[in-house]
Amino acid sequence: MSQVRRQRLAMSKPTEGAAGKTGTWRVFKPVVDKEKCNACGLCEMYCPDNAIDADLTVDLAYCKGCGICANECPKKAIEMVREEK
Ligand code: SF4
Ligand code: SF4
Repeated sequence: MSQVRRQRLAMSKPTEGAAGKTGTWRVFKPVVDKEKCNACGLCEMYCPDNAIDADLTVDLAYCKGCGICANECPKKAIEMVREEK
């Protein structure tokens, strides 16, 4: 399904906090299957780190790999895959 650009909600953007960026400790990362995705934006809304932008691109510099986005996706379009080290 084609992606539609949605207006970004009034949320803060991720910035480098006291603990810095995520670094290398993340074990799983989300991968979006754009064929399944209907661009509903729920993943963007639920991400506690606001690491998913309006184009549904995950900023892996800030993503913690919590899996909430994958859990909340109604289309099961996000798979958590193990990081290559
Ligand atoms: S895995 Fe967690 S931190 Fe990463 S994009 Fe999904 S909800 Fe956000
Ligand atoms: S929650 Fe799932 S279907 Fe909705 S925008 Fe995110 S990846 Fe796409």
